[in-house]
Amino acid sequence: MTIDRRRLLTALGAAGAMVMTGARGAAAHPGPGSRGGSDLAPTLNAWPGRPRGTAAAPPDWKALKARLGSRLVLPGDSAYSYERLGFNELNDGQLPAAIARCASAGDVQACLDVARGHGIPIAARSGGHSYLGYSIPNGGLVIDLRYLNQVRVLSDGTALVGAGARLIEVYAGLAQAGRLLPAGSCPTVGVAGLTQGGGIGVLTRKYGLTCDRLSSARLVTADSKLRLASPDSEPQLYWALRGGGGGNFGVVTQFAFRTEAAPPLTVFVLTFPPGSAADTIGAWQSWAGAAPFELWSSCQIAGGTPPTVKIVGCYVGDQKSLTPLIDQLVRAAGAQPTRLVESKDYLDAMKFMAGCASDTIAQCHPTWEGGTLPRASFVAESRMLPPAPLDAGKVAALMVGHSGVFLLLDVLGGAVARLAPDATAFPHRHSLASAQIYADTTRAGYPATKKAVDAIRDGLAALGATGAYVNYIDATLPHWGQAYYGINLPKLKKVAEHYDPDRVFAFPQSVVNAT
Ligand SMILES: Cc1cc2nc3c(=O)[nH]c(=O)nc-3n(C[C@H](O)[C@H](O)[C@H](O)COP(=O)(O)OP(=O)(O)OC[C@H]3O[C@@H](n4cnc5c(N)ncnc54)[C@H](O)[C@@H]3O)c2cc1C
Repeated sequence: MTIDRRRLLTALGAAGAMVMTGARGAAAHPGPGSRGGSDLAPTLNAWPGRPRGTAAAPPDWKALKARLGSRLVLPGDSAYSYERLGFNELNDGQLPAAIARCASAGDVQACLDVARGHGIPIAARSGGHSYLGYSIPNGGLVIDLRYLNQVRVLSDGTALVGAGARLIEVYAGLAQAGRLLPAGSCPTVGVAGLTQGGGIGVLTRKYGLTCDRLSSARLVTADSKLRLASPDSEPQLYWALRGGGGGNFGVVTQFAFRTEAAPPLTVFVLTFPPGSAADTIGAWQSWAGAAPFELWSSCQIAGGTPPTVKIVGCYVGDQKSLTPLIDQLVRAAGAQPTRLVESKDYLDAMKFMAGCASDTIAQCHPTWEGGTLPRASFVAESRMLPPAPLDAGKVAALMVGHSGVFLLLDVLGGAVARLAPDATAFPHRHSLASAQIYADTTRAGYPATKKAVDAIRDGLAALGATGAYVNYIDATLPHWGQAYYGINLPKLKKVAEHYDPDRVFAFPQSVVNAT
C-alpha cells in the first residue's frame, strides 16, 4: 500500500475516521501499546498447520538463554509485554513462548537447534507488519532480526541490507550513497517480509518490484544450514524468495540488491470533486497502465455517499514533463481536481509518500523505537486487477455507504510486466494493479469492519479481480493458495517441502498448507 495509512487517510479527508490508538497513548513504557485484547481478531489466534514434532517436551530455553542472555525474552521478563507485539493491534492476543533477538546468523542457527522438533511454531520477524501476525506465533518462537539492520552500499552499487532493516533505514542508507531501491511506502515495514512477497511501491513501474532487484540472499534453513540463494547457488530457493512470501523457506539474514543511481523525482496528489468517482476510476484505469514507465500512480477511493477519489503518484522526471501527462488524465476524467505537485530528491520523495515528509529519519520510526509512527488496528485485504479495466461504475458502487473503508489501486505494469509470471514466484506480472481494501477497526469495531472489507473484496472478485497479493495476507481469502501464487503454486510447494520437509516454519497460510 502507498503512504503510511493513518496519514494517507487523514490526507484523504478521513481524519474523523482515524482514531489514534496504541503506542502514542502508551508512552509510559518503551514498547508499543496494547489494546488489552478488547478488539482482537478471533480467527487469527488459532495456529493450525503446526510443525511436526513432539509437543510433550518443551524446548530447552535455558540453553538458548545461556547463548543469548537478555536477548532471549520469555513470558516472565518485563520486556515481554512489548517485545511480543506486532504492528497490527488486532493480533495482540497472540502470546509467543519466547522471543529471540538475534544479532547474527549463528544466533538464528542456535534458535533452530533448540526449538526445532518440539512441535511449536517458529517464525522470523523483521518489521513485524504481517497483517495476521504470522511473525508472532501463538505459543511459538519468534526469531527477531531487528538487530540485523545494517545497510551498506558497495562500489558497484550493490546494497547489502540486513534482514531486520525497516524501509526508512534502507532509503536513508541508499540516499547517502546516491542510490535507490524500489520498495514499499510505509517507512516502518520490514524489508524482509516486503521483498519475499514481491514489494510494490512508488518506483515499481520504472525499476520493478523489490524482489526483482534481489541478486542474492543469505538465509538459515530449517536444518540450521546457512545458505546463499542466488542465480548460481540454490537457484530454486532464489526463485522462491522472490514472491513466494515471507516465512516459508528459512530465515533470511541478509539481502543483496541491485540499486540504481537516484534521479530527481516529482510527487503529486490530485483530489477530485465528489460525484466524479466512477469517471475518474474509469479514466485512471486506461491512463495509469498506458503511461510511461517513469509514471507510477495510485487511485485511492474513500468509501462514502458518494465515494471520493484521490490520485497520488510519483514521477521519475521533472514537473514540466509530468504536467501534460496529468492533463491527459484530467481531460479523460472530465472533472477538475485540486493539484499538489512537488519536486523532491529520492529520500524526500520516499518520506513524502510515507507520510513523514517533515520528520527526521529517527522520527520516521515506530514510537517504541523512539519515532512518531504508532501501531494500527486494521483489517486489510487484497485483489489483483486483471489486465483489462473493470467496470468503473461498478467499482465505485462497491464503495457507496462504506465510510471509513478505502480501496487503494496501485498500478503495476511497466518493468513488472517485463518478466514472465513464472520468472520469479510473484505471478501477477500482467495485472493492471494491486487492489487493497483497508479499514481501521477503531471506528466500527472488528466484526462490522471485517464484513464491509470482505464485501468489497468479494465484489471485486465478482467483477473479475480474482488474484491476491500475499503481502496483504488475508485469513479468510477463498482459495488463497491459488489467489496468491497462481501458476507458481506447484513449484513453490516443491521448494518449500524440499527445504523444510518437517514443516518447522509452517503457519496457517504457509505455502505447504496451500491447496
Ligand atoms: C502500514 C503498512 C504499509 C505497507 N505498505 C506496503 C507497500 O507499500 N508495499 C508492499 O508491497 N507491501 C506493503 N505492506 C505489506 C508488507 O509488505 C507485508 O506486511 C510484509 O510481510 C511485512 O514485512 P515485515 O518484515 O514488516 O513483517 P513481519 O511480520 O516481520 O514478517 C512478515 C512475514 O515474513 C516472515 N519473515 C519476516 N522476516 C523474515 C526473514 N528475515 N526471513 C524469512 N521470513 C521472514 C514472517 O515470519 C512473516 O510470515 C504494508 C504493510 C503495512 C502494515
